[in-house]
Amino acid sequence: MRTPFVAGNWKMNNTIEQARQLVVNLVPEIKNISGVEKVLCPSFTSLMAVSAMLVGTDIGLGAQNMHWEASGAYTGEVAPSMVAELCKYVILGHSERRTYFGETDETVNRKLKAALANHLIPIVCVGETLAENEASRTYEVVTRQIREGLKDLTANDGLQLVIAYEPVWAIGTGRAATSEGANAVVADMIRPALSALFGPVIAQSVRVLYGGSVTGANAAEFFARPDIDGALVGGASLKPNEFIKIVQAAAG
Ligand code: PEP
Repeated sequence: MRTPFVAGNWKMNNTIEQARQLVVNLVPEIKNISGVEKVLCPSFTSLMAVSAMLVGTDIGLGAQNMHWEASGAYTGEVAPSMVAELCKYVILGHSERRTYFGETDETVNRKLKAALANHLIPIVCVGETLAENEASRTYEVVTRQIREGLKDLTANDGLQLVIAYEPVWAIGTGRAATSEGANAVVADMIRPALSALFGPVIAQSVRVLYGGSVTGANAAEFFARPDIDGALVGGASLKPNEFIKIVQAAAG
């Protein structure tokens, strides 16, 4: 059995004070929803404040990115050990990082290895662009992102991962994938790619999320699909009522 998983990616939103207010609105409602792993991913500047507010709850904290090097002359970057001081999770390879900051499967792979070495649970994002989708290249792209992004990982590493299938055309557009289509990509492309790396048993035990315009209104439809184990939520994670509904839907 795979425990449902819902993570809120706040992206580059919220000052510390705004982040505190969002947590104040969210925590009393979601902390007692059992049967679902819940994670908040604020920006780096708010991690410390949010971390303090989550003490004593079952809500986890995640970062949205990190560098792969342990330390050194990398101005503006944050090291894995720094993230691990505060967080249990880290989002890696988000499409916005790939599109705007030049992340590649190779850099995702470096970050992934560094995250695992620092006992962080990586939430690894994969997904095709609109052009790739329209050219029927989803299988090729998603399979490559898994094969290259997760290269050289052991079966035990595989067990620590969470994967998020996020079709780029569905992120922040209000145009979610169909639950049927998303489930087919997970079942027919992502799990087989995981199986090729780690074998069928681990491929079936890895949590795979859907991300892309998930709302309180459409979440339950995704979670009803057999291969979708939760959601990575962007815009709706900034709206307490929406995020609460999504967590409730994942709990079933
Ligand atoms: C995301 O940022 O990972 C995401 C899925 O965004 P949104 O929910 O806004 O589409």
